[in-house]
Amino acid sequence: MESISVFDMLKIGVGPSSSHTLGPWRAALRWIGELKEKGNFEKVAEISVDLYGSLSLTGKGHATDLAVMLGLSGFDPVTFPIENIEKEIDFINSENKLKLNGELEVPFFPKQNIIFNRKFLEFHPNGMTFRATLKDGSKKSSSFYSIGGGFTVKKERKRKKIKLAKFAQFPFPIEKGTELLAYCKAEGKSISEIVLENEKSLRSEAEINDGLKKIWDVMLDSMYVGAHTEGTLPGGLNVTRRAFEMNKNLIGDSKYTNAEEWIAAIRNTEVKFRQILKWVSCFALAVNEVNASLGRVVTAPTNGSAGVIPAVMMYYMVIENHDANFEDVLKFLLTAGEIGSIFKKGATISAAMGGCQAEIGVSSSMAAGALCELMGGTPEQCLMASEIAMEHHLGMTCDPIAGLVQIPCIERNAMGAIKAINACEMALDSDPSKAKVPLDKVIATMWETAKDMTSKYKETSEGGLAVQVNISDC
Ligand code: SF4
Repeated sequence: MESISVFDMLKIGVGPSSSHTLGPWRAALRWIGELKEKGNFEKVAEISVDLYGSLSLTGKGHATDLAVMLGLSGFDPVTFPIENIEKEIDFINSENKLKLNGELEVPFFPKQNIIFNRKFLEFHPNGMTFRATLKDGSKKSSSFYSIGGGFTVKKERKRKKIKLAKFAQFPFPIEKGTELLAYCKAEGKSISEIVLENEKSLRSEAEINDGLKKIWDVMLDSMYVGAHTEGTLPGGLNVTRRAFEMNKNLIGDSKYTNAEEWIAAIRNTEVKFRQILKWVSCFALAVNEVNASLGRVVTAPTNGSAGVIPAVMMYYMVIENHDANFEDVLKFLLTAGEIGSIFKKGATISAAMGGCQAEIGVSSSMAAGALCELMGGTPEQCLMASEIAMEHHLGMTCDPIAGLVQIPCIERNAMGAIKAINACEMALDSDPSKAKVPLDKVIATMWETAKDMTSKYKETSEGGLAVQVNISDC
């Protein structure tokens, strides 16, 4: 088994899609690394990219073409100022040239040099091949696969050995929920404490804290930005941003100038059941509106589902526990990350492999278990909460209208967050020893369902809402 860190499950990136934007962006960077490693970089005369399968079918709506160009230009998706995206893309489009890794100018005609192939590569539905013609006329190419959540792999998996070794060095190597529970029981530790020990075998505690602080800062910022930005989303569907209006109505006359003050202001509002629903929805919508407009979000475990985990954490902070602090954020993210990694090991977090159950279903499951730990649930109750959340997402298809991560994606985050909270509450009131469906069984069921699902419902926009609703109706 290969190691998966919480930092693999939660990654800072750029919207709208982890598999179709962040993955191809990172693949382009990896290809540049390969060219340099083999001494070919300086010799490059021309380049092109072939996108296959789902990357081709929904690539335009998911900004795969832009991501590839930004990656080839050498920009880092974690730090690149998103307000510069338009300018950089306009430059390539108008000049028909690209500065490879910011160093080497090559001709680049996006319409001809980014090729959308309907064909699926055998290894994974999200395949892409980068090609270079060198100055001596020889050709070089390299294929990558974006397997969900921003993870990119090559067929030959050179990094597999390293990941296997890292897994072997974990004090608590975990593949399944039952193993996680066994470690918690044997050590008398919570899930987050067990996960922290594993993370400490990869990096120092200071690095873990610092890394998770950065992740939470981006999550909070995406909620704040989304809740304070009005207008319509890009892409042509003319989808109205709703978090702005919801926040305005809920917050009333409160004054604040930053995210921290916003949290304090929300804590002072009166909340009954309806307001709680609206606040949680507002947080989730806000993140995914930012995501849909190519903003910065945390892949958790994907971009399409990036709103669920921040919304549920924020719910805990502003509704459940006004004294919540960064310690709680740490526990929440560590637990959520581990649950997500168990899904990745036992099934998939790629919509191109498993439909939306693999995105919103997994994020809801991660959030449910993590919230349960903060609410004082036992490890058994946490996994029960995760199981309940996934059980009621089984079979959910991926059918984004016009290939954009907007409808149904944005609302699905609100629904996933609310389901997570409900799943947590049910688990807290239950005796897990009487549960009929363990987490591992629901993961196996999800995987079987994924395999049975037709490709129409796996991020191809060839079925479901994507074909029932015409872009001209929107
Ligand atoms: S329908 Fe679900 S899986 Fe598909 S793009 Fe939207 S959020 Fe992602």
